[in-house]
Amino acid sequence: MSQPCVNIGLVGHVDHGKTTLVRALSGIWTDRHSEEMKRGISIRLGYADATLRECSDCPVPNCYTVENTCPECDSETTELRKISFVDSPGHETLMATMLSGAAIMDGAVLVIAANEKCPQPQTKEHLMALNIIGIKNIIIVQNKIDLVTRDKMVEHYHQIKDFVAGTVAEDAPVIPISAQQNINIDVLIKAMEDIIPTPVYKLDKPARMFIARSFDINKPGYSIDKISGGVIGGTLKDGKLNSGDELEIRPGRKVESEGSVKWEPITTNVSMLLAGTERLEEVTPGGLIAVGTTLDPSLTKSDSLTGQVAGEPGNLPPTHHSLKLELHLFDKIVGVTEETNADIGNIKTSEPLMLNVGTATTVGIVTSARSDVAEVKLKRPVCAEAGSMVAISRRIGSRWRLIGAGAIKP
Ligand code: GDP
Ligand code: MG
Repeated sequence: MSQPCVNIGLVGHVDHGKTTLVRALSGIWTDRHSEEMKRGISIRLGYADATLRECSDCPVPNCYTVENTCPECDSETTELRKISFVDSPGHETLMATMLSGAAIMDGAVLVIAANEKCPQPQTKEHLMALNIIGIKNIIIVQNKIDLVTRDKMVEHYHQIKDFVAGTVAEDAPVIPISAQQNINIDVLIKAMEDIIPTPVYKLDKPARMFIARSFDINKPGYSIDKISGGVIGGTLKDGKLNSGDELEIRPGRKVESEGSVKWEPITTNVSMLLAGTERLEEVTPGGLIAVGTTLDPSLTKSDSLTGQVAGEPGNLPPTHHSLKLELHLFDKIVGVTEETNADIGNIKTSEPLMLNVGTATTVGIVTSARSDVAEVKLKRPVCAEAGSMVAISRRIGSRWRLIGAGAIKP
């Protein structure tokens, strides 16, 4: 077993320790891009795989580790399962990236720093996003406990419990940790084992992959015979992919001719399959995979296919140029500080909205609206099944703010 079998997301307010926690679990620092390093925030989704392990000689929870040799007793540990971590950016301007990551999470760890009052704006906004997307397997970690006194920690714990009362995270365990000092990471691993099970996948269904990233892996100056085809990264929700398989990608590519714009599905072949750094002949759902294709890499460079869906030709969901949504709006805007909290009210005709559907982010203009249904004409089409949940954001000031959800009506 070399492929990760489940995706666990890290969500929460900026600087609360998501990326540090991924490093504690995987040894990988996901803020790889230089701009991210400079600004100290995660801009794109970060990915890292880790293997959760168990020592047969130590008691629970000390037996849980990510090390090959047990830090407690030096015995060799055995593998429980491989996990792909999806590290969300916590910055308020990056909600679209968070939402597209949430679409591929099987469960999530909500990271809340103990040295700040709870909830901070994106603590709330991310929890609402998990709610909309239907992620129910949630663990809360109270991070940075090394920075607070015991009394402060208890007070903060009560703030968390009050905040999650009545939400999907109401019954989630709250685990005090220090991601930086490696405190209670074993307890967190136990909670992942207990609360975020490996989903039951339907391997006999046609392959369907949600694209979260896409790349041109060639370095400038490569000679033409060394050029690799375009690479897509994401997660397989159903089915299997094998080297050589034919793949359709929707909505595909934008084609402009004689003043009209069309979107044409792309077809290609699978040339390479990767999980982590390991090449595989076949991939199954769960975890993050990279799929090498025979596409011209200019089609995949700089995340240009992010949000699209790939799978067995002829079996993908339809491409929508407009969406009719059954609305479930919040009462109040959540992602802002208390002082500026405002009522959301109804959606209005001709207002612009940002919609997140699966891993896709698109902007649209409302063409008709009632209190419970709205129709939105999209700037970029999306490929999605009827019934799928769409996260709806409205422009408020200079930011898109999550205001609720909509189910795609047929
Ligand atoms: P993110 O924005 O949620 O990904 O937060 P980061 O992981 O980038 O962490 C933000 C800052 O908090 C960094 O300077 C970390 O070193 C620090 N930090 C993270 N976890 C802990 C912790 O458990 N204790 C302390 N003292 N600092 C932490
Ligand atoms: Mg981060």
